[in-house]
Amino acid sequence: MDGPGLVRRVVGGVLAVAVCGALSGFSGGAERVASARDRPAVPEAPAVVRRVSAPAGGTVSWGRRVLAGVGAPGVVGPAGMGHPVRETVIKKKDPCARAKCVALTFDDGPMGSTGRLLGILAGRRVRATFFLVGQNVVKDPETVRRESAAGHEIANHSYTHADLGRLPEGKAVEEVTRTQDAIRLASGVTPVLLRPPYGSTDKRLASIARRMGLAQILWTVDPLDWSDRDTDAVERRVMKSVRPGSVVLMHDIHATTVAAVPRIIDRLAARGYTFVTVTELFGGDLEPGGKYVRREP
Ligand SMILES: [Zn+2]
Repeated sequence: MDGPGLVRRVVGGVLAVAVCGALSGFSGGAERVASARDRPAVPEAPAVVRRVSAPAGGTVSWGRRVLAGVGAPGVVGPAGMGHPVRETVIKKKDPCARAKCVALTFDDGPMGSTGRLLGILAGRRVRATFFLVGQNVVKDPETVRRESAAGHEIANHSYTHADLGRLPEGKAVEEVTRTQDAIRLASGVTPVLLRPPYGSTDKRLASIARRMGLAQILWTVDPLDWSDRDTDAVERRVMKSVRPGSVVLMHDIHATTVAAVPRIIDRLAARGYTFVTVTELFGGDLEPGGKYVRREP
């Protein structure tokens, strides 16, 4: 996404009806994204804007909020609009509007240590997000299927761990497409998230991601687990930097990282954190092509 949009939380049925009215020109029941350019003329006060910012040196993206068809339970929009009542649905989609959430993410798998991690996550009833490398998916589709069946989110991390921001466009498209196909074949799931290896992205990759229906997910907390492969250091660095709304980057291909995960989960749980997938963390506000690093409280 190149231009800023807005994340808007609609609170209360009265405003919801007003929003419905303002958007009545759109097809009934269809989800509608309000942008900075075309947002309806509704009072600003009840809306909360959540900023989604990029890491140093990156561009800043703003999430967008689905507005159309919103209505409070039992409140019906103006006659003839045909919009369904959807307030309850949206609340269920966004548990992190109230809870203290964190998204644990694991890159580069599947690998030998992934199975152990799945056991750890299952034992603690924690769901995470796996950014998969396509060439590893085709070598071990069963583990990918297990990840998905356990309720984890599975997502695209290129086919060969390529620097997508530097590849010719055709090659970048091929990397992403082959991985989508491999994950779909292994699990039946079509990913909606892309994490560019090395965080390497640019406007062109954003455009590719937008066309392919993929939001770009970077990270908030990076314990550099690949550099020294020190379990204690991974735990310490995550615990020092994590905040509500963080996206934590780790790698399940390192046994030293997997060994740190039970400690990290137990300590975060003791601090009251809820563990969610990346899509859940952002409450469904992720837009294809957009770049996201954290959810602001
Ligand atoms: Zn990676």
